[in-house]
Amino acid sequence: MSLISFARGIPPVQALPVEELADCARAAIERDGATVLNYGPVGGYGPLREWIAERNGVDASRVLVTNGSLEGLNLLLAHFAERGRILVEAPTYDRPLKIAARLGARVTAIPQDADGLDVDALEEELRRDAGPALLYVLPTFQNPTGRTLPLERRRRLLELAREHEHPLTVLEDDPYGEVRFEGDVLPTLHELDPEHVLRSSSFSKVISPGARVGYFILTPELAAAIETVATNVYLTPSLVAQATVYEFLRRGLLGPHLERVCGLLRERRDAMLAALEAHFPEGARWSHPEGGYFLWLELPEGADARDLLERATTAGVTFVKGADFFPPMSGGEASARLAYSFASPAEIGTGIERLSTLLHQPSAAPVAV
Ligand code: PMP
Repeated sequence: MSLISFARGIPPVQALPVEELADCARAAIERDGATVLNYGPVGGYGPLREWIAERNGVDASRVLVTNGSLEGLNLLLAHFAERGRILVEAPTYDRPLKIAARLGARVTAIPQDADGLDVDALEEELRRDAGPALLYVLPTFQNPTGRTLPLERRRRLLELAREHEHPLTVLEDDPYGEVRFEGDVLPTLHELDPEHVLRSSSFSKVISPGARVGYFILTPELAAAIETVATNVYLTPSLVAQATVYEFLRRGLLGPHLERVCGLLRERRDAMLAALEAHFPEGARWSHPEGGYFLWLELPEGADARDLLERATTAGVTFVKGADFFPPMSGGEASARLAYSFASPAEIGTGIERLSTLLHQPSAAPVAV
């Protein structure tokens, strides 16, 4: 029995543009080898910075291109952890939680409901502790829930940030926004407030995670500060990778490729929703993402995700338990993140059937007394 993974948010192999990128890499090195094979600007490959700047309506001095966006997140979180606390959604992307824990940062989690971040709870929290802070938020096809923050909440969140007496910097992490299957495109937080909102995104989910090209839109001051630190960490990001991605963009390949990626992902999302609907027991609930890589599963009353994961791994299917997306001991015990991005539609059906069989069986886990 082969293991079916709903654990990792990685693109299906069919979504990797192997031939095109091979060609782009050769062309990029042939055209600009003297630049991209050397050390160069720490902020990234010039033409790619310009492309990103233009697309985001900012000056290129505000763009920092990093070796995947996680690398930049490490640098940014370290910067803010020294200056105040970090507010996150609960649940949120697990790696920033781990980074913040490693940094010894003060982290406060703001709850979500079915529409994403609870802005009233954010307001209350800002009133309770008015100190300077960074709000790390994923408003579109969130990792881990697949939820999208409605427009009114986006506006309210930004109002709260502006009204706050100490600086509240908003960092919008948005690597999934372009992987949309249906529904209206919403303005990003950065589009709603281009001066103040920081934005991170990546080519990982739309071209190739192995290329390791992510980027940030920062304020000019912050870009300069992070570049100084980045120079001491890696001198220059991979200009070869960035020039390859730029060649892909320059040739106009992103649009048609994105259509293909969205088609592949939509098929997988549909397969997962259909299988959940057909097999899952009463009492289980799940999100219905309009895009992205993940859905969020809430298990029926009494079920425990840790126990289910243990039994599921033996039965040939894996996922990430919900608690991993919350600060330690603060929730998620009866929930799970299911990535539909990687497995084939047929495997998704089989994997969900395996999970549902386990949910119908009584757990062997000892009952806590
Ligand atoms: N942010 C989010 C929300 C992610 O899901 C990921 C990848 N799983 C990243 C950032 C990091 O992506 P990368 O480093 O590949 O750009």
